[in-house]
Amino acid sequence: MRILVLIAIGLLLYMIIGRLWRSSRPASPKISTEKMVKCKQCGLHILEQEALRQGDNYYCSHEHLEADS
Ligand SMILES: [Zn+2]
Repeated sequence: MRILVLIAIGLLLYMIIGRLWRSSRPASPKISTEKMVKCKQCGLHILEQEALRQGDNYYCSHEHLEADS
């Protein structure tokens, strides 16, 4: 009988601690919406927003953009 009580208390503590632990973490993990693209000239990976785009191709710098065109 005592073991059952201990198990019940243990489960209760587990649930409480689990809930506290979960609530202390951010509600939703930060999902990265930043897309990485590859420079056509040197193969360097850069953020799409920072890359220079020409048609379907991306470049890391003006030098590489001009070198390819
Ligand atoms: Zn490049």
